[in-house]
Amino acid sequence: MTTKAFAAHNSSSPLAPFLIHRRSLGPLDVQMDILYCGVCHTDLHIARNEWGGTTYPCVPGHEIIGRVTQVGTGVSRFKKGDSVGVGCMVDSCRTCPSCRDGEEQFCEAGTIFTYNAPDKNLGGMTFGGYSKSVVVDQSFVLNIPSNLDLAAAAPLLCAGITTYSPLRHHDVKPGMRVGVVGLGGLGHMAVKLAKAMGAHVAVFTTSSGKVQDALRLGAHEVIYSRDENEMKARANSFHFILDTVSAKHDINPYLQCLRRNGNLTQVGVPPDPLSVHVFNLVHNRRSFSGSLIGGIRETQEMLDFCGQHKIVSDIELIPIQKINEAYDRLLKNDVKYRFVIDLASL
Ligand code: NAP
Ligand code: ZN
Ligand code: ZN
Repeated sequence: MTTKAFAAHNSSSPLAPFLIHRRSLGPLDVQMDILYCGVCHTDLHIARNEWGGTTYPCVPGHEIIGRVTQVGTGVSRFKKGDSVGVGCMVDSCRTCPSCRDGEEQFCEAGTIFTYNAPDKNLGGMTFGGYSKSVVVDQSFVLNIPSNLDLAAAAPLLCAGITTYSPLRHHDVKPGMRVGVVGLGGLGHMAVKLAKAMGAHVAVFTTSSGKVQDALRLGAHEVIYSRDENEMKARANSFHFILDTVSAKHDINPYLQCLRRNGNLTQVGVPPDPLSVHVFNLVHNRRSFSGSLIGGIRETQEMLDFCGQHKIVSDIELIPIQKINEAYDRLLKNDVKYRFVIDLASL
């Protein structure tokens, strides 16, 4: 089936209209019309080949909300008309230890990501959600709680799970002091989720203009991270800090904010290496680690948690024709707090 899409054709020219093919329906497949797709900073990193490894043409988009149009003969969990989600992965081997543990994002045979990954069905590379429709194996399709606004739920499929998973892994709960570095797409979801888990939440921001927003989003305190005195006042005080920053920055002042046995988890992936002063790790027995999205089972758990707590993203809905402008605004930290594409515009 031919489908309209928007693609990057190289690392520097704007994304532009492009026709792609979607596979015909297999017995375990779900075919959907795409209604909304969130714009993750990863889309920009990959469209512009900032991490290396991009194959062109590239159709980004991994925060997909769709409406089911058809299901294969063996599909039991979904039916025509259902509102569904697809996140960062569309397949994995399902037999390796990581897949068996429900952590398909670490599939030892190679996770099939939603875009820019080898497409074993059609050859070439997978194409993402900046398009009108997609066909996905039912095991990688998520249920969206019926009380959530569909456009505002789209960012849960990446920004939501990417922040929920490390918060859970580090057992965030009442009585804990949690810091969130960077108030963008991931950061604002981390604030909402950590607050719903009962933690005391602090936002570290480089944008003085985001202080009121951070408080409105649920933060208990906001630290303007360019002010050394504000940073020093928080030394040795946090149990857990989640760093969502997309660009090169100094993580050492954040490490110094961790208390004994505290952990700083990096989910933002700046293209350049970050440097760590080891003294900041040995003191207080601190640790520095990373986290990549989350497995399918945990993604459904996160969606259900968001349904229970009525958590969605704060979004700016855009037509797909504004995608290049949206990328430019992302680079200026000018997003409140996630762009979501309305695919009716394509
Ligand atoms: P975003 O909406 O652009 O937010 C990034 C935030 O980082 C900005 O709003 C800004 O917050 C802060 N920031 C940006 N440039 C900075 C700089 N030079 N110095 C200090 N702070 C800066 O991006 P996003 O979509 O949330 O994605 C963030 C990062 O996470 C990206 O690198 C993306 O690829 C990565 N990511 C990783 C995973 C994973 O599984 N690990 C999943 C999704 C995305 P303030 O204005 O508040 O300072
Ligand atoms: Zn993403
Ligand atoms: Zn596997």
